[in-house]
Amino acid sequence: MLQEKKLGPLAQIMMGREVDGTVYYWTAAYLVDGLLVDTGCSYTAPELIEYLREKQVNQVINTHHHEDHVGGNALLQKEFGLDIYAHPLAVSLISNKMELNPYQELVWGYPEPTIVKPIQGQIKTEHHIFKVIETPGHCPDHLSLYEPEQGWLFSGDLFVSEDQKVFRADEDIYGIIGSLQGFIQLENQELTLFTSIGKIFPEGKSSIKRFLDHLEEVNAAVANLVAKGLNAEEIKNSIFSRESSMAPLTGGHYSIQNLVDKLLIRCVL
Ligand SMILES: [Zn+2]
Repeated sequence: MLQEKKLGPLAQIMMGREVDGTVYYWTAAYLVDGLLVDTGCSYTAPELIEYLREKQVNQVINTHHHEDHVGGNALLQKEFGLDIYAHPLAVSLISNKMELNPYQELVWGYPEPTIVKPIQGQIKTEHHIFKVIETPGHCPDHLSLYEPEQGWLFSGDLFVSEDQKVFRADEDIYGIIGSLQGFIQLENQELTLFTSIGKIFPEGKSSIKRFLDHLEEVNAAVANLVAKGLNAEEIKNSIFSRESSMAPLTGGHYSIQNLVDKLLIRCVL
């Protein structure tokens, strides 16, 4: 399923695999001044192509290599012959077949490998210049797009909520913190933050600060409990009332335990 939401000069394109009237998981792409930011998953690629036939799209960028961000690449290249850009580290990941967990195959499917071009520095559209910021953490090849005149920040999967507790097993929590601290240093007093789950934060810097405070609180609680001799699972159970339902659904690939385990690495050093 594909749904468009108009946001002034931008369009937010929500996409997700629909089975029996239910969309498993929505992922957002954005179309701004002829630049398409991300391409959804492989299941929604035909709908994305139909949607874009009526639009002006000149170039495409993937915020990172994950299957719900590059799934429309192959069809976009076939139908429109568009250049697609990504972080230099993402180029080989997107051009080779990915390894997916069963839940990822079900929800997003395997993207067809595509040739994309490495990008650093900036990307220009007719009316805007977007700074390409390397933002590792969610994965090493993650980038974000920053438009200083408008205060727009397209932050992919780096930031999703002010109180996020559920993390992927392969995320680098300290990389996420470092990248988000970089956002706070950007010159605009406030930022409009466009996320890949569709949530938009009009006061992005304030939201990021609240998230960093939340992580600091969890970290302090973890440090306190490890000093009392509790193990990783006991610490998780003590701080959080219950594990996320995502944990059993994803075989532990997404869980609250992942957050505790990551924080513990530095606590026990
Ligand atoms: Zn991702």
